[in-house]
Amino acid sequence: MSYPDVLLHINGEWRKSRSGEALPVLNPATEEQIGTVAKAGRADLDEALAAAEKGFAAWSRVPAFDRYKLMRKAADIFRARADEVARLLTMEQGKPLGEARMEVLAGADIIDWFAEEGRRAYGRVIPARGEGIYQLVIKEPVGPVAAFTPWNFPINQVVRKLSAAVATGCSIIVKPPEETPASPAELLRAFLDAGLPPGVANYVYGVPAEISEYLIPHPVIRKVTFTGSTAVGKQLAALAGRHMKRVTMELGGHAPAIVFEDADLDHAVRLLAGAKFRNAGQVCVSPTRFLVQEKLYEPFVEKFVAAARAVKVGNGLEPGTQMGPLAHERRIPWVEGLVADARQKGATVRTGGERIGNKGYFYQPTVLTDVPKEARMMNEEPFGPVAMIAPFREFEEVVEEANRLPYGLAAYAFTRSAKTANAIAAKVETGMMTINHLGLALPEVPFGGVKDSGYGSEGGSEAIEAYLNTKFVTQAGL
Ligand code: NAD
Repeated sequence: MSYPDVLLHINGEWRKSRSGEALPVLNPATEEQIGTVAKAGRADLDEALAAAEKGFAAWSRVPAFDRYKLMRKAADIFRARADEVARLLTMEQGKPLGEARMEVLAGADIIDWFAEEGRRAYGRVIPARGEGIYQLVIKEPVGPVAAFTPWNFPINQVVRKLSAAVATGCSIIVKPPEETPASPAELLRAFLDAGLPPGVANYVYGVPAEISEYLIPHPVIRKVTFTGSTAVGKQLAALAGRHMKRVTMELGGHAPAIVFEDADLDHAVRLLAGAKFRNAGQVCVSPTRFLVQEKLYEPFVEKFVAAARAVKVGNGLEPGTQMGPLAHERRIPWVEGLVADARQKGATVRTGGERIGNKGYFYQPTVLTDVPKEARMMNEEPFGPVAMIAPFREFEEVVEEANRLPYGLAAYAFTRSAKTANAIAAKVETGMMTINHLGLALPEVPFGGVKDSGYGSEGGSEAIEAYLNTKFVTQAGL
């Protein structure tokens, strides 16, 4: 199957950039160039801003019920194309076809969820202090949105933003990832084929910093939403703050996975190993610090190492592949640097710890123990297929370690005790906690972090609020 040269989408038109410039797109499993993506310049951004302004004026007047119907149609179209979109996603990002297909189908479910939520963007009537007075709270779309999304879930990170904007009557300019541009383009195509009018959703690709520095301060843009690293998120939030723009930030994590001594060991290993090596660990909610109570520590390490060794690594297009390559060439030196630093500071490599071959960005599923707290990997997000396992003795000790870092996105716990489950859920500073199963990221549940992991939610009924202004109207009869 061929891979397209991906174009910008501005004011209802797929087109090259005004300069004609384009960037190469590589397949991370082969390092071969498979296509290009148009590189937007200032003229393209100005046209996208004008389109978003016009698109908002028109779309915000379309009734919520009509927006809902269009979105349900877009979801069905996208679902029906799952196989072909999944292939593009695997070619550009590397994840196994099965995972790519799940991402497309989950994307369709997210469109459905926001479509329905858009019909329920209720205001309220507040009882007044005087007769004949009505106090109304009205929800209005915030306006044109600027969205920036990364390459680890090329569809999922866009669909939450695009769907919330379209459902509420906003318009949006998305900068999807340049590394993985074709699958998010297919997401937009589903909306367009369902009848989305010109200007409501626009895509620009290019140099991320140039685009964000121009769009965020621009007076047309009323809201900014970003998914990516904490370092970049802080820069963009500061810029948005200077220009008083509404902001949602979904940033990095360093999730603790806590296994108490009364846990079901095999169940915990099976779920946590699956979660760790999914998408080669390039997941913001990936379990990273495995904290295992002393009694279970050695058996947990042994079984987890066996699970890591059993992972079939290869090209995501090949049947049976369970883990693909890292998504782009910057990831290999990053993971290698963290592993080298941990080793040098005394870590034990129980399995893995090396790049696989020299063609394609493959890295071995890796398990480290004895990693000191000063090691970079115990503090920085590895965003790769690396698990660090450490023992703990007491409840308070594990709480302290779980909360040691400035991150607070996801946390995992395994225990058979309801008392321990309640206590750990209460004590860990996190946006999301999943206990005895993997239950994060469904469309209908909140998705977001605290502390350096960001603010705002991209799931559940909270998600739509970020795209709405609250207007208060009070009215007395004459
Ligand atoms: P990066 O930090 O440069 O980029 C992260 C994302 O932000 C990319 O999509 C990039 O295009 C975008 N970006 C970077 N600078 C930007 C700017 N000035 N304006 C707008 N967008 C900008 O590095 P990277 O190598 O792509 O990823 C490295 C780290 O990012 C990972 O180790 C991980 O910690 C984090 N990350 C997090 C998520 C997530 O889901 N929260 C996703 C991808 C990457």
